[in-house]
Order: sequence, then structure tokens, then C-alpha cells
Amino acid sequence: MEVYFHSVTLDESKCKGCTNCIKKCPTEAIRVREGKARIIEQRCIDCGECIRTCPNHAKVAVTDSLEGLNRFRYRVALPAPSFYGQFKPEVSLGRILGALLELGFDTVYEVAWGAEAVSVAVQEFLARESGKRPLISSACPAVIRLMQVRFPTLLDHVIPVDSPMEAAAKMAKRAKVQELGLAEEEIGAFFITPCPAKVTAVKQPFGDNRTYVDGAISMSTVYGEVLKALPEAQDRYDLVQSTGLGIGWGYSGGENRAIYQGQKSRFSFLAVDGIHSVISLLEQMERGDDLKGIDYVEAQACIGGCIGGPLVPQNRFVSRVQLARIADTIGRPEEGIKREEFLGLWKEGLLDLKGEIRPRPVMSLDPDIRKAIAKLEQLEKTVEDLPGLDCGSCGSPNCRALAEDIVRGNALETDCVFKLRERVKELAEEMVELAQKLPPAMGK
Ligand code: SF4
Ligand code: SF4
Repeated sequence: MEVYFHSVTLDESKCKGCTNCIKKCPTEAIRVREGKARIIEQRCIDCGECIRTCPNHAKVAVTDSLEGLNRFRYRVALPAPSFYGQFKPEVSLGRILGALLELGFDTVYEVAWGAEAVSVAVQEFLARESGKRPLISSACPAVIRLMQVRFPTLLDHVIPVDSPMEAAAKMAKRAKVQELGLAEEEIGAFFITPCPAKVTAVKQPFGDNRTYVDGAISMSTVYGEVLKALPEAQDRYDLVQSTGLGIGWGYSGGENRAIYQGQKSRFSFLAVDGIHSVISLLEQMERGDDLKGIDYVEAQACIGGCIGGPLVPQNRFVSRVQLARIADTIGRPEEGIKREEFLGLWKEGLLDLKGEIRPRPVMSLDPDIRKAIAKLEQLEKTVEDLPGLDCGSCGSPNCRALAEDIVRGNALETDCVFKLRERVKELAEEMVELAQKLPPAMGK
């Protein structure tokens, strides 16, 4: 049986069993049983919707800590592009990177730089491979996990190009091995993450793909430490490698903009953000509805893109303005993306997403197809018998999910409060009837 890692976990001591989270979970991965939420780990995609929803802060993301840096001789910070959007306009990008060095990192390698490399690889892939369309970005791990769980037939649409995080880690390690003569194992690369999904992608990469990232630290944690370090920090603008195109990957539409650059109108792109909108689009693709003419889909689980991640400290509207400002003013737009350099990396396979992304068939009712059909019939009948109010009082997200839980043997029909009331009424009537009966010796 597959063992799953999850960054998103429940703090039982805080959970009041309020059922707020069960309705928001896009994979129906939560049930409330015995007064506490339970996460079905095969279904959870670490999107963090439940972290946003829980009024009691009982859902938490477990991430790496800054202490983990001590395991390595040389430490590289990999800030997500969305990190830059967290600060006030008067804090320069150079000082943000300088403050990261104050936290114990030896250098910074921008994920925005990795994003620029990925942009070139995607352009090339689209130009050279005429097969499946539309192709789907691999950048958001919550979307890939969603596809593994709910849309397995679409997995072959995922473009076999690495995420910017992985690309940046690979490029950083290669550069530092060459520059400093260190062994790769002596270099620790730490991603500053806006979301738990990236933590899970680091701890349990897709398919057989290995990761070059050694840890993922919450953006909120790093932000707090950087704020403290800013007064002492030097302006390290020399560490800025990316252009505005890579930085723009931090918000929805920015990925497509960077890939589109230099391609004129040869390919058509679609950007979708927010897990429920992503689900609608994937349902449309699964039904075979016409997405003709779309070559590439940028899909992000969070509304607004990574600036809307569950672990970012700033309001996403504010950080979008700030990030767009940095992207527009960082300069070097005339240089554009370093196309030839990145093309070389793609050609040697450094930017490939390797290994098969396998489905997680957790939605199937039974591995045996005949049993699955019989269970589906039973499920449909059970749904008909339930009131259809989707109230969630049973601890399942809706009546259909409760029916599924019943068929799987994980719940009882009387978990439904309306069914329970019917049953109690029936029992009460039977009791009244029985109470009125006399033994044969005393009456009829
Ligand atoms: S992280 Fe997402 S998939 Fe997992 S339990 Fe929370 S809402 Fe559901
Ligand atoms: S959109 Fe960005 S922040 Fe949100 S889950 Fe995907 S990768 Fe993480």
C-alpha cells in the first residue's frame, strides 16, 4: 500500500467538529467523525483550502524550519516569485535578497530565474511536439495531485517540463558545484514556499521524479525573519538574475505572458486560477468539450496564483500590485529571457519532468469492475433514499458522499439526522404499539 506524505494536517486539540471544512475540500477528503475532522489521506491534494476555511485554525501546514539549514555546508535560498510581492514598495528587491543572507543562507538563487528557463523549455516543447493539446503546466503541484485523484485520464496532458522550483534547484546546484568545487550533497537548496502543496511535492515528488530541493520553509515564517533582518541587510542587487517575466510567474497569467514572449501569436494560452475553476475546466476537458485551438493551460490552485497561496502573509490584491510593480521596474526588459542559455539546458534534459505521473484511483468503489458496478447501483439507490439537503450534519460533505461512505462500509444510514429521526419515530410507534398489547392470559 502506498504511503502518503501530507503537509496539511489536523491539530485535533483545536478542532471543534464544526464541519466548515468538509464542504470546501475539492476532493471530498474530509469527514467529521466523533466530533473531530478526519482527513482521508489518499484523497488529500494539500491544496490548503481547509486551512483557509477553518475558523478554529485546526488545519495546519507542516513545513521545514530554518534550523534545517545546519545540515548542509552551503545553503541556497530559493525564493518563490510571490515572495517579492509581500513587502512594502520602499523595500528594494536587493535588500530583500540581502536580508535572506542574514538568516543563514550563503546565497540566493531566484525561482523566477528558474521560471524563465522553464518558459523557454515550454516554448520549445510546444513548437517541436505536435501531439496532445492542450498541454497543462506542471508548475502547481496541487493541480497535478488533483488530476491524479480526480482526472487520471488527463494526466498525459501534463507537459514534461519541470516546475520553476525544481529548475532553479537543479541550476543552482550545478552552478555551485562548478564554482565552489563542493559535492552536490553538501549543498542544501531551500524553497520559500507559498503553499503546503510545494512542501508535499518536495517530500514526495510525482512519479519517479527525484527532487533537488532539500526543504520547503513557509513563506510566512521567512517573511517574519526577513522583516527583522532588513535594518541590517545590505542591498544585494547583484544576486538578482531574473527579469520581470520570471517574476510575473507569481500571479495568474504571468506564466503565459513569459512563455508567450517571443512567440507572437503562434500558440494560444489559457490561464485558470482557483481550485474550483480548475476543476470546472478539467471536467470540460474530460467530457471532450471543445477546447480546440488552446495549446497550453496555466492552471493554479490558488485564486490569483501563488500570491494567493495559503502560506503567504500579505493580502493577494496588495501583493499583486507590488509584484507587478517590481516586474515592470526591475529593468533589463531589453535583454529579455536568456533564450540560448536555457535552450541548451532543455536540450541536455536538465529541465525535463522525468518519470510517469501515476493516477491515484481513490474514487473507484472497488478494484473489481463487476463489484464496482454493483456498488454504484447500491450507491444510486442510497442517494435516492437520502433527503438531498446536503446539510453536512452527518459529517460527510453532501448526501452523495454519505451514500458513498455507507456503500464503502464507513458510515450508517442513521448518520443522517433526518434518517435517524425517521428511525426514532418508527421505534417510538412500535413501542407505543407494544405498550398497548396485553399478554394472552390477560386479554386478547
Ligand atoms: S488540503 Fe485540500 S484536499 Fe486536503 S483536506 Fe484540505 S481542502 Fe481537502
Ligand atoms: S497556485 Fe501556487 S501557491 Fe497555490 S497551490 Fe499552486 S503552486 Fe502552491
